[in-house]
Amino acid sequence: MAPHEELKTELREAFDRTLNSGWYILGNEVKQFEQEFADYCQAKHCVGVGNGLEALHLILRAYGIGEGDEVIVPSNTYIATWLAVNYAGATPVPVEPDERTYNIDPLLIEAAITKQTKAIIAVHLYGQPADMDAINTIARKHNLKVIEDAAQAHGARYKGRRTGSLGDAAGFSFYPGKNLGALGDGGAVTTNDTDLANKIRVLGNYGSRVKYHNEVKGFNSRLDELQAAFLREKLKPLDAWNERRAKIAKQYLDCLSDKSLNLPYVPDWCDPAWHVFVIRHPYRDRLQRTLGDAGIGTLVHYPIPPHLQMAYQDNGWTKGSFPIAEQMANELLSLPMGPHINAWQIDQVCKILTKAL
Ligand SMILES: *Cc1c(COP(=O)(O)O)cnc(C)c1O
Repeated sequence: MAPHEELKTELREAFDRTLNSGWYILGNEVKQFEQEFADYCQAKHCVGVGNGLEALHLILRAYGIGEGDEVIVPSNTYIATWLAVNYAGATPVPVEPDERTYNIDPLLIEAAITKQTKAIIAVHLYGQPADMDAINTIARKHNLKVIEDAAQAHGARYKGRRTGSLGDAAGFSFYPGKNLGALGDGGAVTTNDTDLANKIRVLGNYGSRVKYHNEVKGFNSRLDELQAAFLREKLKPLDAWNERRAKIAKQYLDCLSDKSLNLPYVPDWCDPAWHVFVIRHPYRDRLQRTLGDAGIGTLVHYPIPPHLQMAYQDNGWTKGSFPIAEQMANELLSLPMGPHINAWQIDQVCKILTKAL
């Protein structure tokens, strides 16, 4: 992986530091990283956890959301957003996205609220912040919690503020492929809610605050010292790497702008982290094949929306239940994006893509 080539020396030092410390769970590296990442997100607290799915799960648990409760989720997201709700024992209630931003459409949220609704999970999909002011306003009116799924949006800004401090709590993933990725699994919760942060610390550590004293039936979901040490090194260049992503996005937007493609729409209040760069076209599969034949690898995020997955077949949803999510699954294509791709490579993608249209 190119990012780890660039940081090889720093990562080796982080490994040595941890190895020599002789302390591998809940020690100084995690403590330091939590402070540094909380500061980065402009949040009061950060609690390291095992992964992004568990970050969302523990937030729901800590708010007492479970059996009989409903949580609003986008119809088009990575399935982990939904799974976190089921994991807590509650029911995900999908709401369709805005067709331009691909994020949950605030205008459709109220129709999905019932007496059972307890929270809204807003996903900053593809690295672009959801419309948090609109979502927070609806949530306040109906007394709901707002949880950010910020797994794709480390460092993105909404009206100048970082993701991770835009709702009641946020879940981050440090899966290796994310903008801030570990060398394995990892995750974190950020929040300004001190009570929530304390609860999550206890829940993720067997329900224990003091060793061998268990207050609640908890889980084991902790960020390793080693991963925290790596993440501290990778946090340092995150802004610079996100800027490189933004430059690539600009190059795509400039050189593809005249064509029949649907390009990402970025509202002026939002500063995306450009986790991926998606284009939309009815003949997506053909475009993907043409690019593939030219040696350019692309991905589809995501080919099957959660409601059509086998895992959710007992919920009774069928083709047509969430047409916007389905259309996105059929038409979106993620072009090469990352901090270690150069302008020449992007130019090649644009040329081949333009010819294929
Ligand atoms: C990656 C991702 C997750 C899950 O994170 P893990 O660390 O892999 O568990 C959740 N939501 C979204 C939107 C993601 O992209």
